[in-house]
Amino acid sequence: MSTAVVVGGGIAGLLSAHVLCQRGFSKVILLDADAPQPGEGPAGGVASMLEGAKHRGGIPQYSHPHALSMGGLEAMKALLPGFQEELVRRGGVELDVARDLRFFDFGAPYARGPSSLTIVAATRHLIHSALHDEVTGCNAGKLTVRGSCRVAGLLWSEDGNAVEGVRLSGSGEEVRAHVVVMAAGRQSRLPQWLEAAGHQAPDASKVDAQLTYTTGFFRMPKDWDNERWMGHVTFGRPHGLRGCGVFPAEDRTWQVFVYGVNGEQPPTEKKQLLEYVASLPDGEIFEALRHAELLSPLKKYGGAYNIQRSYDKASVAMPGGLLVLGDAVQALNPVYGQGMSVAAMSALALDSELATALAGAASPKQRRSAVQGLSRTFQKKLAAVIAPAWMMAAAEDIRYPATKVEGNGPAPPSRLMQACLDNVIRACHRKVENIELFFEIAHMVRPPSHILHPRLVAAALKEAVSSSLQQLWALLWGPSPAPAKKAE
Ligand SMILES: Cc1cc2nc3c(=O)[nH]c(=O)nc-3n(C[C@H](O)[C@H](O)[C@H](O)COP(=O)(O)OP(=O)(O)OC[C@H]3O[C@@H](n4cnc5c(N)ncnc54)[C@H](O)[C@@H]3O)c2cc1C
Repeated sequence: MSTAVVVGGGIAGLLSAHVLCQRGFSKVILLDADAPQPGEGPAGGVASMLEGAKHRGGIPQYSHPHALSMGGLEAMKALLPGFQEELVRRGGVELDVARDLRFFDFGAPYARGPSSLTIVAATRHLIHSALHDEVTGCNAGKLTVRGSCRVAGLLWSEDGNAVEGVRLSGSGEEVRAHVVVMAAGRQSRLPQWLEAAGHQAPDASKVDAQLTYTTGFFRMPKDWDNERWMGHVTFGRPHGLRGCGVFPAEDRTWQVFVYGVNGEQPPTEKKQLLEYVASLPDGEIFEALRHAELLSPLKKYGGAYNIQRSYDKASVAMPGGLLVLGDAVQALNPVYGQGMSVAAMSALALDSELATALAGAASPKQRRSAVQGLSRTFQKKLAAVIAPAWMMAAAEDIRYPATKVEGNGPAPPSRLMQACLDNVIRACHRKVENIELFFEIAHMVRPPSHILHPRLVAAALKEAVSSSLQQLWALLWGPSPAPAKKAE
């Protein structure tokens, strides 16, 4: 008989609870400060999402646009077969990333065409409620979800080296468990709880591009032509500090985010917001939004910096029986759409670590001790799983001139690597095959080292030579009159 407590009912918490149930825990108790409605059921577009957000005060980003990357979708499907179909059944929109989405980056649009890259676009509410219902449905009898339960601290063994449960805020109720999984999101208080119990809090690295996000939901114009695009992202790179994205969601709506970094602040009035969008280096999104009806209040989100806490480092000496994952370990700049994927991939890592740890454990006592001893090995494994996302987001954000770095921060990419990456992006203007490889890296399906894939390196070299020739031409005869690149 073994009991697990999961703290937090977000993406990481729900999937961890599922893994624990499936890996043989006889009782899993998920404690969530929020009050999710039992069987939240199929989401029904923007109104349902705004209603759902009222019960999700612990996830302030709940009513902001959420794009689920391929790495996350794959991890969710591995844990919950049929999950992609379920998202679509509830109104999620299946997209071929290179054909249906238009990307404007480094001054030109990417090439477009059919590809092997599939995502499902939907509101966070749809993704979250589908996950909630699938996980609770699969694990009925083992999993108890307790809403409106805020955990106020940990219960410790007599020697203080192991965690034996949690204490609830308000009632002071003690919930005992053989393992506690902390998945309390960006605002997790685990570092303070560790310190209060005489343990070392983990080091934190912070990379803050001072992102400001304004978001809203629009109704797609009736005559919108999906062949034009179904979603669009415009990055101001390499020099601009503004950007914008549109993703489709259920019920023919668009979820729209507009961002600024390093002090640029997108406004929250529609007219001014559209002017801001019009100032981007590409006019497509402005043209589309000009004719679209706004369905929700325009909301601002600030403070979404990248932060990573090193629970894997030797100095932390993680107590037995305690695991931590999701945004509680690493929270990222949302512009890159990685957070839910990191959470799902972390739960998948928990699944494989549990499988290994429990493989040789026959008796309940052996199983309990195997799980208790998992803390350090899991956090180390997790660090490797989440490192690529950190590398991509933080290394991208330190390009901006006024980005602040605290703690160790990411090692800045070498000039050679940066130049290679920039030229890979330029190569995406030309060929869908380049996009396929590049996006598999960006969506965490391939490791970052594949940026050195021979096909990408060859494409990047071609871009480098072409741009050097253009510079030489400009030096000798003035700027070239015609753009060298074919756009789409
Ligand atoms: C503005 C914005 C936009 C984003 N857009 C995207 C996107 O497009 N794509 C993407 O992949 N990611 C996006 N993210 C990131 C994504 O939302 C997070 O990475 C993801 O939600 C992390 O999941 P989690 O389970 O770790 O934490 P959360 O989803 O934040 O869940 C934490 C849960 O823990 C509960 N909790 C907290 N403290 C306690 C406690 N003491 N006791 C009990 N319960 C507690 C909370 O109530 C909450 O339910 C975005 C983030 C922001 C800020």
